[in-house]
Amino acid sequence: MSVAGSRGSARSVRVGVLPMGSGGRVLVQTMWKGPLTRGDPAAARRLEALKSLGCDIVRFAVPTAEAAETLGELAKNTDVPLVADIHFDHKIALACLEYPIAKLRINPGNIGASWKVAEVVAKAKDRGVPVRIGVNSGSLPQDLRGASDQAAAMVEAARRECEAFEALGFRDIVVSAKSSDVADTVAAYRELSKSLPYPLHLGLTEAGPLIAGTARTAVALGPLLREGIGDTIRVSLSDSMENEVIAAREILGAAGLGVGGARIVSCPRCARAGFDTHAFLERWAAKLYSLRTNATIAVMGCAVNGPGEASKADLGITGAGDSVIIFKHGALVRMVRPEDADSAFAEELESL
Ligand code: SF4
Repeated sequence: MSVAGSRGSARSVRVGVLPMGSGGRVLVQTMWKGPLTRGDPAAARRLEALKSLGCDIVRFAVPTAEAAETLGELAKNTDVPLVADIHFDHKIALACLEYPIAKLRINPGNIGASWKVAEVVAKAKDRGVPVRIGVNSGSLPQDLRGASDQAAAMVEAARRECEAFEALGFRDIVVSAKSSDVADTVAAYRELSKSLPYPLHLGLTEAGPLIAGTARTAVALGPLLREGIGDTIRVSLSDSMENEVIAAREILGAAGLGVGGARIVSCPRCARAGFDTHAFLERWAAKLYSLRTNATIAVMGCAVNGPGEASKADLGITGAGDSVIIFKHGALVRMVRPEDADSAFAEELESL
């Protein structure tokens, strides 16, 4: 179990407006994948769209001083908490702290001399910004590289860094210990939850493409979340930020920690289908995942299981012979031709 003896860490931090840890909601994160152009209004719009999908926090790689400035300007113009991710150059971390960023992530394996870390920590403390100690199995400190027990090596790296931060009087810490290996990830986080009081950022690093990465991350994080371990999660996919957020939501939901909004039930479709569930979900998934209302939405192909599932949902649509029928809270409310299905569904969704 976690140090707190229940859900989440013993201590908490504040990431922008959001509390993280101490049994609070498990926050969903993604990481910005493309270049960030200064003053690009599309960036702020995309952050809003991610937020509406259920994303709480967005992290940005900040490789240069110019990137720090660009991120800082964006942070001034959004209420989404933004995290600056820094490797190698502590001066970039110091530059980011001139702006209203919500959190820093540094990698103890490559940030360098302890005086550099001390400068960053002092400024973070001054600005009230928490710092994630992001240990990664691929970039462990020199003496821990090649250790036979990678999980123990990651825990040791995190523990050392926490002690260094504590010696500087800094405890607004979040910890992660990521590996691309499921067993190492589970073992490392179980140990961290027993030995450290800080909020844990859960994730499997370099998890893979959409399906493989989601499956591996779910297998790694599912048991941890169900044991009460973890305060924020990111699903690291070779895919879009939007799909990372949806995957994280689904993992939380399956672990009994759903963040609300839509829960989609849909059939895989087969030769009996009179209604194309795949095409329908292609058109509707983003809209459904942006619903603010807690609702089960069923999307079914035919009369075999369709009416049963659709009538159990808050809103259900199913093929039935040559028609498409819509159920709302258990009652059949519409029977339409397939070409009118979207407009009928839109009207019923509107008034859900
Ligand atoms: S609901 Fe109908 S179309 Fe969908 S998988 Fe079942 S039998 Fe096939």
